[in-house]
Amino acid sequence: MSLATFKGGIHPPDKKELSKDAAITPASAPDRVVIPLSQHIGAPCNAQVEIGQEVKAGQVVGSTEAFVSAPVHASVSGKVVAIGEFPNAMGRMVPSIVIENDKKDEWVELTETADYLSLSSEDLTQKIRDAGIVGMGGAAFPTVVKLSPPKEKPIDTIILNGAECEPYLTGDYRLMLERPEEIVEGLKILMRALGVKKGMIGIENNKPDAVARMKEAASGESNIEVCALEVKYPQGAEKMLIDALAGRQVPSKGGLPMDVGVVVQNVGTALAIYEAVRYGKPLTERVVTVSGEGIAMPGNLMVKIGTSVGHLLNECGGPKGEAVKMLSGGPMMGFAIYSEDVPVTKGTSGLVVLPEAEVVHDGKFKPCIRCSRCIDVCPMGLMPQMLSILSEAGVYEECKEYDLFDCFECGTCAFVCPAKRPIVQFVRLAKSQTKPG
Ligand code: SF4
Ligand code: SF4
Repeated sequence: MSLATFKGGIHPPDKKELSKDAAITPASAPDRVVIPLSQHIGAPCNAQVEIGQEVKAGQVVGSTEAFVSAPVHASVSGKVVAIGEFPNAMGRMVPSIVIENDKKDEWVELTETADYLSLSSEDLTQKIRDAGIVGMGGAAFPTVVKLSPPKEKPIDTIILNGAECEPYLTGDYRLMLERPEEIVEGLKILMRALGVKKGMIGIENNKPDAVARMKEAASGESNIEVCALEVKYPQGAEKMLIDALAGRQVPSKGGLPMDVGVVVQNVGTALAIYEAVRYGKPLTERVVTVSGEGIAMPGNLMVKIGTSVGHLLNECGGPKGEAVKMLSGGPMMGFAIYSEDVPVTKGTSGLVVLPEAEVVHDGKFKPCIRCSRCIDVCPMGLMPQMLSILSEAGVYEECKEYDLFDCFECGTCAFVCPAKRPIVQFVRLAKSQTKPG
């Protein structure tokens, strides 16, 4: 029987063998954490602490009243030693709070709720908001926004994304093997919060043991279906997942999953939601895959938010051989990191360290030869060659005639381009020079 999937896509080497057998282990306590006040899409938080103040783990250190935002919490106990601009993984200076870790791991009092499924939708949503939950697949979109759709867009299906189609990354895979029951509980909380009767969990079929574990965990739930998906990049993109599992097409030109009655959440986010609602635990740590041919001991670590990249690299034996490039996220949608002194945030799914042989150097590209390979594989049905040609020529407004803003920068087109054109970089450049609409 053929597996669910979408039109287009590619099959890059998945490289998951480097870290897939590494169980999740806690990273050692860092001496200090740098907590950015903006780790999410939306309004940055305002600092709620002062320099010199003692804080406990789980304490709110940044918040705002803005709807599209998420509070940030101390991930360790200790003393606030600085508040100011510090570089994030993208190299931007962002307002951040620096906490010196006293290594006592003292927590604020957390409120447990044993009968969480009897809470109202409003109470569940409030707990998820208070815990600062954001999408942990990399997008870092505040979860509470997805739980508050407008009345004219009713949701009837929630899809949990366990595809993890990015090469090298195995954190979601390990969570599905190690904590499947809690992930299912997180899905049930989401379904109750949205009043939805149908839940689906999509997992690429290169993880048959994860499919089996999730099926077992959901076996008592008649309204939750666990589905194996064809192994194809970018199967884990929201629109592709909805197409494959629900058979619905999110409209182009700015359409959202809620336009077709669906909300998508990552499996790691579902686990964080369960911990927030059941135990009152805010989002202060996450699983990070550290992998790549350029790291000595690839693994999956449970990491305090704000821990430096350098600390994690040391935990994994440090770079080896001719390691030349470091990525936050996977090689398809991740971005290069130029300093080890930047923090892990809520959206950091992985660190990939690559040697020279694995790096495709930007800059050495050729003119488009109009082979149309990029068109054949684009999952959005776009014309990537036109986007790159127009952006290269500096006529950014004209890119909009080719649905520039429907491109979600998956890198599929660039992967197959024989001229090695940096199509995604051209797309980003055009987006930065124009406005949607
Ligand atoms: S990066 Fe954009 S244009 Fe290229 S394949 Fe992905 S969606 Fe299509
Ligand atoms: S794959 Fe590259 S060379 Fe071929 S049409 Fe697309 S941009 Fe041009």
